[in-house]
Amino acid sequence: MINAMTLALYHDMVTEFTNHLQKVQNNMLKCWHDPVEFSLNSFFGFTEFAHTSVSQLAHHHTDAFTSYFNPEPARSGTLNRKTGRRIETNRVAVVTGGIGGIGTEICKRLFNDGNQVVATFIAIEAEHAGTWQKKHRKEGYAIDIIECNVTDFSSCKKMSRQLEKEYGRVDILVNCAGITRDFTLRNMEIEHWHAVLDTNLDSVFNVTRNFINHMIKQGYGRIINISSVNGQKGQFGQTNYSAAKAGMIGFTKSLALELADNGITVNTVCPGYVGTSMVEAIPEHIKNNIIAKIPVGRLAKPAEIADAVAFLAAENSSYITGSEISINGGLYMG
Ligand code: NDP
Repeated sequence: MINAMTLALYHDMVTEFTNHLQKVQNNMLKCWHDPVEFSLNSFFGFTEFAHTSVSQLAHHHTDAFTSYFNPEPARSGTLNRKTGRRIETNRVAVVTGGIGGIGTEICKRLFNDGNQVVATFIAIEAEHAGTWQKKHRKEGYAIDIIECNVTDFSSCKKMSRQLEKEYGRVDILVNCAGITRDFTLRNMEIEHWHAVLDTNLDSVFNVTRNFINHMIKQGYGRIINISSVNGQKGQFGQTNYSAAKAGMIGFTKSLALELADNGITVNTVCPGYVGTSMVEAIPEHIKNNIIAKIPVGRLAKPAEIADAVAFLAAENSSYITGSEISINGGLYMG
């Protein structure tokens, strides 16, 4: 960052210097009859140029020095005077389930890419969310948090209105909240079915529906839905989860068609088994069986999922929409 800025500054100075030489040459032609006037003009001109350049450099190096010793990363962007928060780019990202295993890595990665990031949490997790935020702020991640129950449409509406009011725009939406309630169908109770469908699939409607008009109005958006390899291939004991995650893929493709000419892309990321508490909760012998079937021979790291999300969230990814990116170590290649 500092090197790029320094290079840009030197480039500007060289351009200015070349322009200055050009001016001197023109003056020489104009003032050939008065060498004294020419010499004085040139001398004062160069002095002024040298003075400006030196103070520009001094300023730049002071900034670089300060940012080097400051735990917060070097910042550009504007300060929101009302909230005291700095907006690095004019991009604002919301990550549902942002304080979970994969969500945390997504938040950190989007923050590192210069976005203002907001992670959602559910009310009963308020204390944990506060601790999570403090811990990450100490590490230099100025991530905001907001309460939202993704299974409740009115809670999502409230959250989206609040964010639009506070930040003025929401550009990136990552639907990452999710749960499992694994049972074979013959043992599955209706509440297990609804809990999983509500949290993994209805949630995508509840949240996305509340941001979509805003994104259409601003003519820009990146929506990324976190599905699962088990939504692609099915999994024993997961009729509810596989149905919900497969539903997300269909939702993604349909919405991508609806929004393709609005500057909004909609994509799905389908992780395989990732080393988070969701997978750690699987009994050891089953987990070992799962790992034995993964061609790459290990679980995915949450950061590997975050990399794909960041790629889809980038401005350069404007031609990728309705896609389904598999990150499963070769477990499923359908
Ligand atoms: P986590 O349990 O760590 O994170 C899920 C997050 O969603 C938690 O923060 C959870 O909050 C939140 N959440 C649950 N219910 C709600 C709700 N009603 N409203 C708002 N937030 C809610 O799981 P992972 O990080 O592992 O999973 C993240 C996503 O990735 C999920 O959608 C999951 O299905 C998907 N996935 C995960 C894989 C894996 O191997 N881990 C594989 C493939 C897909 P709380 O902790 O309070 O419940």
